[in-house]
Amino acid sequence: MQEYRMLIGGEWVGAETGDWIESVNPFDGKAWARIPRAGPGDVRRAASEARRAFLDPSWSRLTASARGHLLMKLADLIAEHSDQLARLETTDNGKLINEMSSQLRYLPQWFRYFGGLADKIQGSVIPIDKPGVFNFTRHEPLGVIAAITPWNSPLLLAGWKLAPALAAGNTVVWKPSEFSSVSALAFARLFELVGFPRGVVNVVTGYGSEIGEALVSDPAIAKVAFTGGDQTGQRVYQTAASGIKPVTLELGGKSANIVFDDADLDNAIKGVVSGIFAASGQTCIAGSRALVQRSIYREFTRRLIEFAATAKIGNPLDTSTQVGPVTTRPQYDKVLSYIQIAKDEGAKCLLGGQTPQRPDLEDGWFVEPTIFGDVRPDMRIAQEEVFGPVLAVIAFEDEDDAIRIANDTIYGLAAGVWTKSMRRALLASEKLEAGTVWVNTYRAVSYMSPFGGYKRSGIGRESGIEAINEYLQTKSVWIDVNEPVPDPFVMR
Ligand code: NAD
Repeated sequence: MQEYRMLIGGEWVGAETGDWIESVNPFDGKAWARIPRAGPGDVRRAASEARRAFLDPSWSRLTASARGHLLMKLADLIAEHSDQLARLETTDNGKLINEMSSQLRYLPQWFRYFGGLADKIQGSVIPIDKPGVFNFTRHEPLGVIAAITPWNSPLLLAGWKLAPALAAGNTVVWKPSEFSSVSALAFARLFELVGFPRGVVNVVTGYGSEIGEALVSDPAIAKVAFTGGDQTGQRVYQTAASGIKPVTLELGGKSANIVFDDADLDNAIKGVVSGIFAASGQTCIAGSRALVQRSIYREFTRRLIEFAATAKIGNPLDTSTQVGPVTTRPQYDKVLSYIQIAKDEGAKCLLGGQTPQRPDLEDGWFVEPTIFGDVRPDMRIAQEEVFGPVLAVIAFEDEDDAIRIANDTIYGLAAGVWTKSMRRALLASEKLEAGTVWVNTYRAVSYMSPFGGYKRSGIGRESGIEAINEYLQTKSVWIDVNEPVPDPFVMR
């Protein structure tokens, strides 16, 4: 059993209670590593170390260019360690090694991009309407950022927060998911190797239910950047509100992949499959609803089932595997319960719908790629986030109907549109209530393009130039050179 420690104030420590959490490999259900089970005391120490580091000249007096350079060096080191980190993630969360390797190979770009942005954060000189008075703005870091991340893409989603937060000059306390903390603790060593001052990045591991609130409400925390489920996000938002702290919330989704009758069906089928089965449905942007125009509904579902049925289920560390296990036992139970709910509500199970009956998979948390047809938009399977390999196929009549059904959920994270018509593509991208709209593609993300949710899918944006503003606050500076000081009883 491998043992990992937390990084607090530059020291590698266990929890102050001496407690541990066993991390379980979803492929075989066996504990393979242990991580500290931090308590509120550990969180307080991490937050206060991060605050001390924020004020320490070794960080606060570092030039923006030097800060950016550290992030660039970190990017190089991540690239060097990407294979090793990807294996840790796959062992910990069961997602495909191909998926985790490609995420890890891409991750350095976030640190390069925001590292490059660090010394381009500039205020403006305002030609203020008062003679003899100068006014300019400074964009300053907020202080200590609490970064709270989920289990599905542990390092990528942390990088989306850490890269802009550090580039802006903040310090960080990072709490990864209790289900997938190992890669975070391995990753934290890279900050040390690069030479970040101690306490600039701290990692605490433990149960959200035990330390989440202590972290969010700690007076040293200036802002919370959270990715996770919308119920947890709501609690985080409420706790942050009592301290008047800003938040970035990246929450769940029920994204629609809309297939019009003029689409290239081969491409659309691949897009729909990649949207829901590629990561066993465990991505916030999962295209968990396929909206298919009625005139092609039969042909499309027949070909979709044919294609999805060929997906190879197996060991996620095997590069030929296409569908791995679900990451956690509670998640596995939840996915199976949604399959039952869909059946009970009258949806027609067209593919899968159970655990694979294979001796080599019986210890893991596997669910077959599952497709439901005849789904009505008001069914729970069409409204609620399952976060598993379960697709709901819904028929629509025309463009207005497609947009109405697509927008008829509490979420608004992403949407896909499959059509050859430029008019339809533009119309849909304008009318869809989603933070990301993909046309004739799906699950494309980049460090350059803003990502975030409409409606209950979140607040704020990650990636792209504007993401840096999530970690800055504006100060207005006034300098008055007038002599003598005018009437003190009148506003200037
Ligand atoms: P989760 O909400 O259960 O947990 C997320 C994180 O919050 C974990 O680190 C957890 O320990 C912590 N947490 C739990 N209770 C807390 C509390 N009271 N206070 C503070 N922190 C607390 O989510 P999950 O199951 O790990 O991840 C799956 C969810 O994440 C899905 O809903 C998915 O859609 C969402 N997600 C969203 C995005 C996005 O960018 N929009 C990306 C990936 C995942």
